Amino acid sequence: MGIYMDRNTITDYFKSSKNHSLSGKTKSYEWRLSALKKLRKGILQYETEILKALQKDLGKSDFEGYVSEVAFVVLDIEHTIKKLKKWMKPKRVSSPMLQWPCRSYIHYEPLGTVLIISPWNYPFQLLMAPLVGALAAGNNAILKPSEVASATAQICEKIISDSFLPEEVMVIQGAVEETTALLELPFDHIFYTGNGMVARIVMEKAAKNLVPVTLELGGKSPCMVLGENDLELVGRRIAWGKFFNTGQTCVAPDYILVEKNQKDELLKHIKNALEFFYTKNPKESPDYGRIINERHWDRITGLYKAEDVLIGGEAQREEHYIAPTLVHADLNSPVMKEEIFGPVLPILEVENVNEALSIVHKFDKPLACYLFSKDSEIEARVVNEISSGGLCVNDSLVHLSSQTLPFGGVGESGLGRYHGEFSFLTFSHQKSVMKRYQILDLLLRYPPYLGKLPIIRKVLNYIG
Ligand code: NAD
Repeated sequence: MGIYMDRNTITDYFKSSKNHSLSGKTKSYEWRLSALKKLRKGILQYETEILKALQKDLGKSDFEGYVSEVAFVVLDIEHTIKKLKKWMKPKRVSSPMLQWPCRSYIHYEPLGTVLIISPWNYPFQLLMAPLVGALAAGNNAILKPSEVASATAQICEKIISDSFLPEEVMVIQGAVEETTALLELPFDHIFYTGNGMVARIVMEKAAKNLVPVTLELGGKSPCMVLGENDLELVGRRIAWGKFFNTGQTCVAPDYILVEKNQKDELLKHIKNALEFFYTKNPKESPDYGRIINERHWDRITGLYKAEDVLIGGEAQREEHYIAPTLVHADLNSPVMKEEIFGPVLPILEVENVNEALSIVHKFDKPLACYLFSKDSEIEARVVNEISSGGLCVNDSLVHLSSQTLPFGGVGESGLGRYHGEFSFLTFSHQKSVMKRYQILDLLLRYPPYLGKLPIIRKVLNYIG
């Protein structure tokens, strides 16, 4: 683990970052472009080390590490570099007729110095992807990686300190104490990814300095299998999305709601897919990861120990191993009481669409919602009746890879959004500019108002 800092050192770094923002150096297109290129170069240079660190922290295979962490961020940088000029361009908007002659536009300016706090489950992506948006928008950033994934936190620090001056971007390592010290500083934005309990602490501390926040949280993401389906394909796509990163994904399908008559066949196909992916002995598979630590292993195994196990169930604490597991569950089961965030998938039978929707409505608004169905009426009902951060029809996880869709939660699953241009907007202030000209001064608006009210009424009614 890198060196933890005391409060005064943290404050000094923050001040120098703030001064750098105030210097205005980061505003230009050239600075932003060069910062993005430096980040890309650093990542590509340390790719092997990043993958090794992910393997060490989470037993993540190189394939998953590359696709969901390294390439994810690099592609985001490429896309941002391609679009940056267009995004930065002031956006012309129409002006109210009463103010003519006039020009109105939105000018995008950096917020200043932003704080990015990330969790352990995609420890590289979730630190670096928000940074891409922060740099594109011309900000300086302080990054606080998760202390729980310490190998990845270290390599992130190396990449950043090799690529940037500390006042531009820097990593501050640490746990609760260091994060608390950071949260007390008047940043211009705080971007937090993690659980809802800490999110409340973040928001409370941010409120003291009126700091705006983005909160990327989690929740129980439902996975509905309803109406007509190709169950072999559905089983494979659910198994992939659920057990990718050993189920430690914020948008992993958390529970399945399946119509009674499809349940047995779906289970058969999920089982077949799992054996195909990870063999009959997933513990030996190089493609199947591990639980981050013993605390989470205890929590996850505690959730399903009393359940009726349908597939898997084996677990070894010292190796942080839990097999891909499916359990039979009902709404009172412990697995249905909290976000599972591990390789355990409860399956609940429903009679029909109505029952499935009424179950989803019993929970907080989820980060993701999955529907498998070929029936467009069912799809329309889910789109219209379920509020969730995102909805993915007939697949799992993949909606997250889109750079043209906003990613974020709603209600308990989060506040704000990012990815692609939405990241740029999150980290930019959208300043409204109205330019009038020193000609044509309508005297009607000035006091004394005597006798002018009926005229202004008529004018406004006419314009409206
Ligand atoms: P975590 O324990 O690594 O915590 C996240 C960050 O908060 C870390 O940097 C940590 O140092 C800091 N932190 C922890 N306790 C703190 C405290 N008391 N005060 C101040 N800072 C504190 O990760 P986690 O919270 O266990 O992450 C898992 C959760 O994150 C899940 O609920 C998951 O769904 C959610 N998640 C959401 C997304 C998303 O993009 N929406 C992505 C990944 C994870």
